[in-house]
Amino acid sequence: MATDPRCPDCGVTMEGVDVRTGGGYELSVQTDEKREGLLGSLGMNESLDVSPRLCPECGLVRLYADL
Ligand SMILES: [Zn+2]
Repeated sequence: MATDPRCPDCGVTMEGVDVRTGGGYELSVQTDEKREGLLGSLGMNESLDVSPRLCPECGLVRLYADL
């Protein structure tokens, strides 16, 4: 992400943070797009990493998919 997004409520720059599941896995999002090649033919959808951003003022966390 070229520029850090701003909190929609506070207008301050949101900081990059790590969000983990309880098992320590990194989060990802699944799109409706089929993966290319063999995985797509097996019915696997495309998976995108996400970049969590935290507002230091109000604690809002947003997830941005790495498109
Ligand atoms: Zn905020």
